[in-house]
Amino acid sequence: MKIIETLKLNKWYGAGQNRVHVLRDIDFSVDEGDFVAIVGQSGSGKSTLMNILGCLDTQSSGVCRIRGVDIGPLDSDRLAELRGKSIGFIFQQFHLLPVLTARENIVMPRLLDKKQPDEAYLQELARMLGIQDRLTHLPHELSGGQQQRVAIARALIAKPDVIFADEPTGNLDSRTSADVLGLLKRTSTQFN
Ligand code: ADP
Ligand code: MG
Repeated sequence: MKIIETLKLNKWYGAGQNRVHVLRDIDFSVDEGDFVAIVGQSGSGKSTLMNILGCLDTQSSGVCRIRGVDIGPLDSDRLAELRGKSIGFIFQQFHLLPVLTARENIVMPRLLDKKQPDEAYLQELARMLGIQDRLTHLPHELSGGQQQRVAIARALIAKPDVIFADEPTGNLDSRTSADVLGLLKRTSTQFN
């Protein structure tokens, strides 16, 4: 099953002399269970592509499908619904809410969606990520690697179809980066 599919996807910013054509005719797909890295120099359009695939931004032309659904015609409410249900995000800067504990950060997407978090699943994630004894801590009481593990749990809690991680190890040392990449790889194997 194709989770993501693009056909001749293009993105440009600005107009006239200031027009920057960032993505040109991207044909790309990701299957269920795939673990994919998009690699390129700074400014080459990685974030631009991920933001479109993650329904945070819209393309200038071409088609993007998530689980077979063409996202082009969807309005912002439908896009938000699709994001909440199908897509998890992990960012370089973690983006945890500083006043919430690790546990509260993890379950927040469920609460926003007016759903009860699955406590057994939360415990399973915390165990797998090695943060089970850090759930009552605030983000500033955690190391960078632990904060990113909390962000991974938050991305997984709603059992999305796909997770996008934009430079998820950019703020971590090389040893912790390897750990976090290993955990991401494991989540794709374990949760498909
Ligand atoms: P990467 O993530 O690979 O470093 P980006 O996707 O952030 O690259 O940026 C790709 C190109 O698009 C860059 O040249 C950048 O300057 C340009 N760009 C990104 N966002 C905007 C924007 N909102 N307006 C104009 N240009 C942008
Ligand atoms: Mg980027």
